Amino acid sequence: MKTQPLIRIVYASRATPECMANLSENIEQILASAIGNNRPKGITGLLIAHRGWFLQALEGPTDEVHQLFKHICADRRHRDATVLGECAIQIREFGLWSMCARQLSPTDALILGELDRRPTFEPANFPERAVMRLLRTVAGVHKLSLTQQQGLASA
Ligand code: FAD
Repeated sequence: MKTQPLIRIVYASRATPECMANLSENIEQILASAIGNNRPKGITGLLIAHRGWFLQALEGPTDEVHQLFKHICADRRHRDATVLGECAIQIREFGLWSMCARQLSPTDALILGELDRRPTFEPANFPERAVMRLLRTVAGVHKLSLTQQQGLASA
């Protein structure tokens, strides 16, 4: 069987007020589903939540990523999913994790650097490269805790 090419989709979406009311628990539930579902499909990625927004990168075989993204878009915990970029990839950026999630804390403000200097945070209008820079930076800084989180959640 021919191996499917790998792609990456990066999108931003708005968490609903109901989701925001219990964000930590919702993230835990999303993560638990994601780790179980993504691994057998060869999907890897990173999800961050910040100021009412979700930002997620999904990497993996083309059909699997498209199917998962469609499924995620139907989730009532968020809305207005906007694709910021979709491209073929040779190498995974977030290959360590079938999915990891992090709610950015005020102490992560430094991480946001250039991106977050503006008063409003509207990632749906950010260029993909800016969001990728943010996701890469979060992944780099929190590599250890993200890896532990996945290890614990999948134990
Ligand atoms: P079930 O868990 O049976 O849920 C059925 C439907 O109900 C889901 O489609 C969802 O829309 C909704 N739902 C589930 N739980 C709740 C809740 N607590 N409150 C409101 N609605 C709910 N899943 C993955 O497998 N991989 C991912 O990478 C991934 N990333 C996600 C990123 C975001 C930002 C969000 C919001 C969700 C993500 N999910 C992901 C979760 C995904 O949308 C599904 O809930 C999950 O895959 C379980 O699907 P299921 O068909 O087994 O549905």
